[in-house]
Amino acid sequence: MNSSLVQDYSLHTHTIGFDGINAPIDMVLRAKELGFKSFGISNHFIVHPEITQSKFYPHAVLRGYDSIYSSSFDEAIAKFKPHYTELRRISEKCDIKLYFGMEMDFFDSPDWFRGFERTVTELHPDYIICASHFIYYNGMLRNVYDMGSADKKSRDDMLKIYWDKMARAGETGLFNWMAHLDLPRKVGVGNEDCWAEYERYAIDKIASSKTAIEINTSGYDRSLTEPYPSARILKMAAAKNVPVLLADDAHCVDKIGRHFDCAAEFAKSCGITKFLTCGNILGKTY
Ligand SMILES: [Zn+2]
Ligand SMILES: [Zn+2]
Repeated sequence: MNSSLVQDYSLHTHTIGFDGINAPIDMVLRAKELGFKSFGISNHFIVHPEITQSKFYPHAVLRGYDSIYSSSFDEAIAKFKPHYTELRRISEKCDIKLYFGMEMDFFDSPDWFRGFERTVTELHPDYIICASHFIYYNGMLRNVYDMGSADKKSRDDMLKIYWDKMARAGETGLFNWMAHLDLPRKVGVGNEDCWAEYERYAIDKIASSKTAIEINTSGYDRSLTEPYPSARILKMAAAKNVPVLLADDAHCVDKIGRHFDCAAEFAKSCGITKFLTCGNILGKTY
């Protein structure tokens, strides 16, 4: 057992069949090897009726990860049922605590809320991470790459929609925690200080529902000097006492636990004192 771990669990991970590379069992074995006490798998659960009509969709098909997108909740739930059955089989045999999660994209519509309820009732996930990989702008779903390649006015409009959506998602209190809050930084969007007021509004809403946030260490592998979220946002989170956990967003075995030491130091330097245990985050006791 590795007693020097800054966090003895990892819950934000992806596997084969969705957009990960390795099988769940290989991810579990690697987590055990690293000394983690608990491990969770949180594949994408992205449902929107117009998802296949978006610009990015053909690229997803070409690269073979279109299975993470569904046009209906029925379709997404049908993909998760055999996945969770496989996880259940593994969890009976392995000697590490395995949790069944999902990384769900939030959309602010009555259909989405109904679908969310049904997903919880039918799949009983142990936890749900909130993500916003897409926004609806000018009659179409857009992702961060669309934001990155847009003209300044459209990019700014999209980023405002993005932050409003994060605030709205945060205040629902439906999620265990918020993933990669400032994801548009992936394409260099939103770094300027003028965005601080939008970020602060979202943090206030997240704090109001007592939802946690993650420090997503994949940012370090994208030649960003900071993970997601930035120091600017983490300082706001610290001031509002928003609880924090470390997330590797591992899509393969080699990325499990990546940069956790570095991220913990970074968080402390931003004034974060409240780190969650696995029990805290799953039981929402924070
Ligand atoms: Zn994500
Ligand atoms: Zn992820």
